[in-house]
Amino acid sequence: MRDLERFEKLLRARREEVLAELAELEEVYLGKNQQESAGDLSRYSTHPADMGSDEAMREAAFSRGEATSETIEEIDEALERIRTGEYGRCENCGADISDARLEVLPYARLCIKCQEALEKSEGGGAR
Ligand SMILES: [Zn+2]
Repeated sequence: MRDLERFEKLLRARREEVLAELAELEEVYLGKNQQESAGDLSRYSTHPADMGSDEAMREAAFSRGEATSETIEEIDEALERIRTGEYGRCENCGADISDARLEVLPYARLCIKCQEALEKSEGGGAR
């Protein structure tokens, strides 16, 4: 019998961390937006070298923010699976996912075998 309470705690703790990270990313992102909407373009022209790195930073923040939002969705779905009693079961083959794997990745959907098979098929034979 799996200790669901423990994994629910893990999931909630992870969710807090991810939300905090997302808030930080949004700060970077929204801070820049405010500057732009203020329409103070003359400030930009005095620092032409900064523009490229700002843009790169925003792009990085944006893609990280997207990945972070996806993680939150994964966590929410895992919490839902705890409620429905499906938590810790591989979505592909129905095997129990090991506690060790769930401790590292509490929102894992697949057992390690199916995950590896998936990565191989998606990896395009690079490995
Ligand atoms: Zn499996």
